[in-house]
Amino acid sequence: MERTLSIIKPDGVTRGLIGEVIRRLEKNDIRIVGMKMLWMTREQARGFYAVHRERPFFDSLTNFMSSGPVVVMVLEGENVIEKNRTLMGATDPTKAAEGTIRRDFATEIEKNVVHGSDAPETAAFEIGYFFNRFEIVA
Ligand code: GDP
Repeated sequence: MERTLSIIKPDGVTRGLIGEVIRRLEKNDIRIVGMKMLWMTREQARGFYAVHRERPFFDSLTNFMSSGPVVVMVLEGENVIEKNRTLMGATDPTKAAEGTIRRDFATEIEKNVVHGSDAPETAAFEIGYFFNRFEIVA
């Protein structure tokens, strides 16, 4: 069993896509074992995306991620990191495969509705960034 962190980004929450994203996860046998809504400060968003701090879009991305509430979830399942990434689609919605969340709903490369950890190490860091062990159901 593997775990990953999923975030419904501020654009997804504002546009009423929480239910749609969760429906797609559950329909694909991904189990939600932790979930909360929160509004990150700029500093919290900058800490979360620290690996991207040298990228030209870092300020824009972290301002966006702290612009409104998000839903953060811990997902569990076999191969769930890759499975969630497949359901999300490519970062750029114009390049995302048909039927993916980003292809169906994202409006631009930055406002792309969802985040998902991309590897076991990042998943461990990202889950620990938002959840303690009492907030994850076994
Ligand atoms: P992801 O793993 O598919 O989310 O993509 P990355 O880890 O490469 O980038 C993290 C997030 O930064 C993406 O989901 C986008 O919200 C944003 N992002 C990525 N590339 C760009 C870009 O070229 N311009 C802008 N403005 N944002 C970007």
